[in-house]
Amino acid sequence: MNTQTRSRRFFLKAASLLGVSAALGPADLLAVPNTASTARWAHKGVRPLSIASANGLESTARAMHLLRDGRDTLDAVIAGVNIVEDDPDDQTVGYGGLPNEDGEVELDSCVMHGPTGRGGGVAALRNIKNPSLVARRVMERSDHVLLVGEGALHFARAHGFREENLLTDAARERWLRWKETLSNEDDWLPPHGFEDRDLGMNHPDMQEESRREAGWRDERARPTGTINCLAVDANGDISGVTTTSGLAFKIPGRVADSPIIGAGLYVDNAVGAAGSTGRGEANLLALSSFLIVERMRMGDHPTDACLHACRRIAEQTKMKRLLDENGRLKFNVNFYALDKDGRHGAASVWPGKQYAVNDGNEKSHLLDCAALYES
Ligand code: ASP
Repeated sequence: MNTQTRSRRFFLKAASLLGVSAALGPADLLAVPNTASTARWAHKGVRPLSIASANGLESTARAMHLLRDGRDTLDAVIAGVNIVEDDPDDQTVGYGGLPNEDGEVELDSCVMHGPTGRGGGVAALRNIKNPSLVARRVMERSDHVLLVGEGALHFARAHGFREENLLTDAARERWLRWKETLSNEDDWLPPHGFEDRDLGMNHPDMQEESRREAGWRDERARPTGTINCLAVDANGDISGVTTTSGLAFKIPGRVADSPIIGAGLYVDNAVGAAGSTGRGEANLLALSSFLIVERMRMGDHPTDACLHACRRIAEQTKMKRLLDENGRLKFNVNFYALDKDGRHGAASVWPGKQYAVNDGNEKSHLLDCAALYES
């Protein structure tokens, strides 16, 4: 018997022992074994739920669709965010994401699987449009939690991920505008007749709020954006994923909160899950997703836990360049959380943000995030 046949038999045997649906492929079987905790919580009858950042309307709908089919929460949230990673029109995640200052797209992601208490991440990964799938592979097929840069790419290649150019023409054009208007003392020139407001300020992503989020240099719009998606199933099992192309035009190799477990994402199957979008540097210094889950463990409602994290960042930020004349944060950070009982909430530093929720309907809807500042 060759190795392939043998492992195939092993998978089939494992599948029948675990009673896993035939719809799952071999990789899924190894990835998310049915666990004791699934059985432990079966009596709870939690209402399945998926939430995400506001760009996750379709993602949460797909996640819930998979949960209804009996799939694991990690399968569900990753399949959800793959929609946004694959979308060339979303310039903050995956394919079509805005590049670093050298014009190279570098992606970050991490995943956590509550029932098995595992997690994995990749940072500054080039040429692979679904970093969330590579993050999952790190979790499943290595004894490590985080791989970065070249190492992450080698690992992805070894696992058969296809390399492709992630820089779309639209993203390249925006990067070029940014580079051409960066300094009036270098040799790069914008096209004749180019006006400052054409920097992209008219682009929907570049409205006042984005300028505020850019914070420390709002004279030049530095769009950020990310998707975080969380899900809890009827057994109370929880998973989450965060995936991003990070801060536009960043210094090559810059990594912020999104691929860092505890910062961009945290899941504890006994409590709940939290994730973030927004200025990653601030969140990286506060490890807010971990903080939010700990607050929920102490009894906080998810919304209150998210607000607590916003407040902590405000207290922790001392640098003048990051504060306005009233001492308030010049940037935005957004947190999303759900708990094991199916409660959910979200909060931002500044008002006006929303998050996507799907609690079982065909379509997801947007709800307002609570805010630290009133206006
Ligand atoms: N948190 C991401 C980062 O700093 C960006 C974002 O969510 O807007 O890379």
